[in-house]
Formats: sequence, C-alpha cells, structure tokens
Amino acid sequence: MGHHDRRTPHGQRSRQTGGICDSGEVYGNELGAFRDRTTVTMKIVHYPAAVLRERCEPLRQESLDDLDGFTGEMLYLMKTHNGVGLAASQVGHAIRLFVCNHTGKPHDNKCYINPKLEPEEELESGIEGCLSMPGVQIPVMRAAICSISAFDLQWNPIHEKAGGLLARVWQHEVDHLNGITIADRAVPTALLVNRRHLG
Ligand SMILES: [Zn+2]
Repeated sequence: MGHHDRRTPHGQRSRQTGGICDSGEVYGNELGAFRDRTTVTMKIVHYPAAVLRERCEPLRQESLDDLDGFTGEMLYLMKTHNGVGLAASQVGHAIRLFVCNHTGKPHDNKCYINPKLEPEEELESGIEGCLSMPGVQIPVMRAAICSISAFDLQWNPIHEKAGGLLARVWQHEVDHLNGITIADRAVPTALLVNRRHLG
C-alpha cells in the first residue's frame, strides 16, 4: 500500500493508493456477540444476484428494534470473510444500511443508516475487491476525501469526513445501496482480466 501523485487520463490530479474493500487485508480479532457460527443465519450473496442491482429502500426509525442483531451478524460475516465493509443488499436485504470497520479494531465497528455522501473533487485510484465477487480485484477511481451523513443504531445523526481507505469503503458500500458494483466502475481491460471470476 503506497501513496504517490500521478495524473489520470482525464488530467485530474489523483493519488494512487492501495485500498481494498470490501474484502480486504484488515483483520478483526474481535468478533463481538457472534463467535458461535450457529447463531449466524445470513449468507453473503454473490454477483450477479438480482438484489445487488436493486436501489435499496431508506429505513424508518420504527424499524430500529430489529437492527442490533441484524447488524451484529453483518459485522460477524464481514470479519470472518476478512472484509472491511458490507452492505445490507449483500446479505439479501435491499435496505439502505451498511457496516464497516477499516482498521479491524472493535471500536471502529460502524453502522451507517440512510447514508448520504458528499465526495470532494480530487480522485484517486485504488484496487478494490468485493465480498460478493470472490477473487475479483479491480482498480476503481474514487473521491480521495469524502463526507458522510447518516444515522447510527440509536438514530443519532452521524456527520463524518475521511480520506484514504475509510472514504473508499463508504463510497464502495453506498454504491451497493444504489445497485452499483465495482464491475460497473471498472475499465473494460479490468473486466477481461477478472472474467473467470465474474461468470
Ligand atoms: Zn462490495
């Protein structure tokens, strides 16, 4: 993983970073309440499942009662697959919610409900993987810095700003909530290289 300045084909200033989401090199040792695999019923759905193409529905505050267990299972699944982010649509539910943890430390477990992004102009390229596309590695241009507004599990408003891997994870996961995968973001040569994984 390294940073260096370079120009994109479109002349925008960009930096090259190695960032991998939502399958990644960040390992969480703390798996929370779901150490016992038998309590986890959800599964990660794989491309080209139809739910990955859906524009997910916003959540209402009334739905919150059920979400603690749901997001706990999502975090467990994400971590057991060495991921750094997982969207609800990737476990078959077309709702606007994702979890992430870009460091592997328990206090960085995050859940974002109804997220809205404000990406800044500068772009950078990074290699991304996706838990719904095992084996695929695709370079994707993302905003280098991004703000996010969302709600947490207690329906408290969240306003954060980040760069690097965390900003990339937010953008990758919000793409999922809009039915967009890294296959849609890839240049054609990257699809060719990854064709045996994409079916
Ligand atoms: Zn993904």
